[in-house]
Parts: sequence; C-alpha cells; structure tokens
Amino acid sequence: MPELLAPAGSFACAEAAFSHGADAVYAGIGRFNLRAHSPNFTVEEFGELIDYANGIDKRVYGVLNIMPYDEMLESIENTLKQVAALGRKPSAFIISDPGVLLILKKNFGDDNIQFHLSTQNGCFNSASMKFWREQGISRVILPRELNLEQIRRLSSSGIMETEIFIHGAMCVSISGRCLLGTYYNKRHPNLGDCPQPCRFKYKIVPNDQTVNQQHDGFDAEEEADSGVYLLNSKDLCVIDILPDIIDSGAVSFKIEGRNKSAHYVASVVKVYRDAIDTYMANPQNYKIKDWWQKELDAIEHRPYTTGFYADDPIKQELFASKAHVGYRLVGIVKAIIDGNPVIDVKNTFSGMSINVLPVKRGQIPFELTFNVIREYDGADGNGTICDRARANRLVVLDGCNERLRVGDMLRVHK
Ligand code: SF4
Repeated sequence: MPELLAPAGSFACAEAAFSHGADAVYAGIGRFNLRAHSPNFTVEEFGELIDYANGIDKRVYGVLNIMPYDEMLESIENTLKQVAALGRKPSAFIISDPGVLLILKKNFGDDNIQFHLSTQNGCFNSASMKFWREQGISRVILPRELNLEQIRRLSSSGIMETEIFIHGAMCVSISGRCLLGTYYNKRHPNLGDCPQPCRFKYKIVPNDQTVNQQHDGFDAEEEADSGVYLLNSKDLCVIDILPDIIDSGAVSFKIEGRNKSAHYVASVVKVYRDAIDTYMANPQNYKIKDWWQKELDAIEHRPYTTGFYADDPIKQELFASKAHVGYRLVGIVKAIIDGNPVIDVKNTFSGMSINVLPVKRGQIPFELTFNVIREYDGADGNGTICDRARANRLVVLDGCNERLRVGDMLRVHK
C-alpha cells in the first residue's frame, strides 16, 4: 500500500489530514522551508506534532528544503540543535541542499534518522540517485517533470525509495529553478518566499511609458478585467490515471499545499484515501466514483492536468486559469453530547441543510439536515435556540438526520 502524504502548514491541517486518512504529513520547521508564509511550526510545536503523530501511529517529515545562503547556516544549525534537544525526532527530514544535509548529519547522524531529497533538488536520473544514496539519502521526491515510464524505471532501479506528487499546484518552471518572483519584487522562490507572479493575469502594454516605469519595467496586473494567464500552470490531479500511478512503483504519494486550508487538505486526502483503498482492494474492477470528481471539482483549484505523467506537458488555458472554489467551510464537529454534534463555527451559517465531509474511512460526503441550532451552553445542551450559527462560537445542532463524528467538516456551496 503506497503512503498517502499530506501537507501540514499548521497543526489544524495535520489533524485534518490524519483524521481523513493520511499516513504521514510533511511540516516546515521555522522559515527554513519552501513555504515561508505558511504558519509552519516552532521547534516546540514541531515536538508536539511528533508526539501527536506517534500517539496515533502516523509519521511526520520535517521540511528543511530551502537553498540557504552562507549567513543562514548558523541559524539553521541552532534550530536543528533545538530540535535534537527535544528528545524525539521526525521519521525523516526533507532537504535540498547538501550543506543542510551535513548539518543534519552532524546533529542527528547517530540517530538512525532518514533523509529525503526534496523535488527542489531536481534529481532526474539514476546516476543522481546513486550519488545521493552515497550521501545518506534514503528517498528521492522525484521531479514533477518526469513521465510515468521514467518514474517506473527509477522506482524499480532498487537504488532508493521514490516519492511522487499526485495533486496540487505546479510551477510553470521546473520546481525551484525560477527567479520570476525575484525579478518581480525581490522575493526569492528558493527561500520559500515566491509571490507567484506566474499566477497573475497579465496585460502587456506596448507603450513607451511602460519601459520607464520605476516599478518593474512592464505593466502587469493581478485580476484585471482584461488580460490573460500567460504563465499560470494548471493544477496536477491524477485521479483519472491512479492505477498507472500506483503501478509506477513509487512508495509515497504526495499532496501539495502547505499554504492550503485544513478543509482543502481534508477534502483531497479523503478522496485519494478512498481511491487508493478502492484500487488496492480490487484492482481489476477499479472504477472512478462520481463523488471523487465532484469533491475535487468543488475545492479550490485551477483547471486540472495530469501534467508530465501522461507525457502531456502542461497545457495552459490562457483565459480561464484563475483558481475557483466550490465549498466554504463553516464548521468542524468538536464533540458529541447526548448524540448531538457540537460545532466549532468557522464561518456564520444559517438554514437547516449543510454538506458534510465525514472523517469515517469509506463514508462519502452527504447532505445533513437538522431541526434547530442552539448556542452551546456547556454540558446540558439546553442553550438558547438561534436563527444562525455565528462565526467563532460553539453551537449544537438538534435533530440531525445523520450521525456525525468528531472531526467531520461542515461546508456550504459557494
Ligand atoms: S513564480 Fe510561479 S513558476 Fe516561479 S517558483 Fe513561483 S510558483 Fe513556481
């Protein structure tokens, strides 16, 4: 059974990933990873995440995959010393830079810890894999730019484990080999600070004045009325080719998205968990289920592609590449009291019908109806009836047509 590996930009995302079926999560420690603007984890929080995962028999991979400058090395070493002092460690560290690997080995070398090579490093061939194996790497996260036949060959080479991306955003450049953000406003993709100018809608103005603009030398607007998405890659989605993906021999399937919400993570994990389980249970009779496609269409995404896997390099829809989202998360079930769910309300909602993304493995999303919304007043469940559930409050739903479980997510269609 391949590992289903989910992004954990925050503790809430890790909880959502694990409760909806992820085997492992990857999480950034401080700012030394390629999602510097995710909440990420302090050293202490990272220790708590490891404890949480160990307690439910899941795995955590610590991400340290920036390409650091010399002046950052001391901070990285200090941070790693603090992680080592925690007395517990992640299942692996993910690195790109050989210098960071050296620092890690110095601080964790005797701990029998695993080191994974980030896709950021761009390890495209078996000779590179052999090189990295000699440096102590036990798993390579293969570039998204390989096709399935190439992945199959590398995975069956016996050199080391391979991991591949199965879902989420893609760079229009080779991952990590891009300086667009640096040109645009001096923010560095290889330090996790990409402002994603490739996602903007561009309007190129053939006008002499443009050349004289102090700002950046060309006229570019995000979300202007006119313009095209010149550079914005479609998002990866492999649900249509999952049997081929499983057949590739990769041991781990990674979902991109450490900047995404807990609801996004839960939703994507839920779909791929069910798809992988369904295939593994009966490969001959594998069929795509309607609700998988419906769920993946409803989460925030750009038009989907199978990317390079099917040897079909990303095509662009110049006029329609803006991400759209179909659901808005309104609450998460925090407890069940006398059979009624207590909801932690994230966004105000009213009405007596709502869609549920359930945590129970194998249970598909469904429409929930209920009779009454009550304010949560503690243990007895007799709080005042209200016409709406207000954001940042706890409410109880009386008279639900279905049983809910702790961790179930409530959404409304946008
Ligand atoms: S600008 Fe776009 S292509 Fe370049 S690193 Fe950022 S997300 Fe990737």
